[in-house]
Amino acid sequence: MTAGPNLVRRRQLGAPGDDEALPTMKASVRDACRHTALPRAVARPLDSLFDDPMAARSPRKTASAARLQREKTHDDIYERIYVAILEHRLHPGTKLVEERLAEIFGVSRARIREVLARLAHEQIVEIVPQRGAYVAKPSIEQALDVFEARRLIEPAVVRRLIDTLTPEKLARLRQHQALEMEARGRDDRRAVVRLSGEFHSLAAELAGNSALARNMRELSTLTCLMIFLYDAPTSSSCRADEHSQIVEAIAARDAVRAERLMLEHLDHIENGMNLEGKTEEVDLEAIFGHP
Ligand SMILES: [Zn+2]
Repeated sequence: MTAGPNLVRRRQLGAPGDDEALPTMKASVRDACRHTALPRAVARPLDSLFDDPMAARSPRKTASAARLQREKTHDDIYERIYVAILEHRLHPGTKLVEERLAEIFGVSRARIREVLARLAHEQIVEIVPQRGAYVAKPSIEQALDVFEARRLIEPAVVRRLIDTLTPEKLARLRQHQALEMEARGRDDRRAVVRLSGEFHSLAAELAGNSALARNMRELSTLTCLMIFLYDAPTSSSCRADEHSQIVEAIAARDAVRAERLMLEHLDHIENGMNLEGKTEEVDLEAIFGHP
């Protein structure tokens, strides 16, 4: 997929018409993630994740063309790493080696460093001085913080969305739901993970408050990482119909119901995670037994 320079921004704004060409970034990261207990142990080399290097770039004839190209490359690389993290192809804790990524994408290490800095700014990547960049690995404490923040933000998102609802916004939500259902129908786990997270980001974007939208996007992505780390294997998965119920309450402009459904939805997601009783300390005796 080739991505234009404004791809990421257009997606964030939720421009109509992007869905078919760009079936990405929509539904709730968390449910998506939740439904989809992906195999966790499979570590893949970085280059196998991004196997079509974008080295072939057009000639840079003018300074502005060069700048446009640079922005496009930056957005492309950002997007590909972001989606790989969202889809659990890059696991929490994976080291993102600058030099390898520079080779894979056919760009300078400086360019990769810029992209990693942007991801770090969004808390998706952690940069450890002297050691490098890693896919973030939220702690249990951070996970609890994320849920606390989501419980404050998401009722406000649905309320604002209802206050500002237009037929176009509703169409966007339903279009997204259709993509999500389709991905579930064909059992495309990676797409479901991504789309279910994006549902929440999309709702925040459509609500029209850019600060809420920015925060929601970050919280959705962190939730996806948390689900990978803490999803309880025995938990019942997040019900596929919950987004639909929320959308119907929004369509009916029933703010009380929409807020309640959203909070219940967040409860289900959190309850599906094993955030209690996990200790950071390793029981060495259990591992090595008695002498
Ligand atoms: Zn959801």
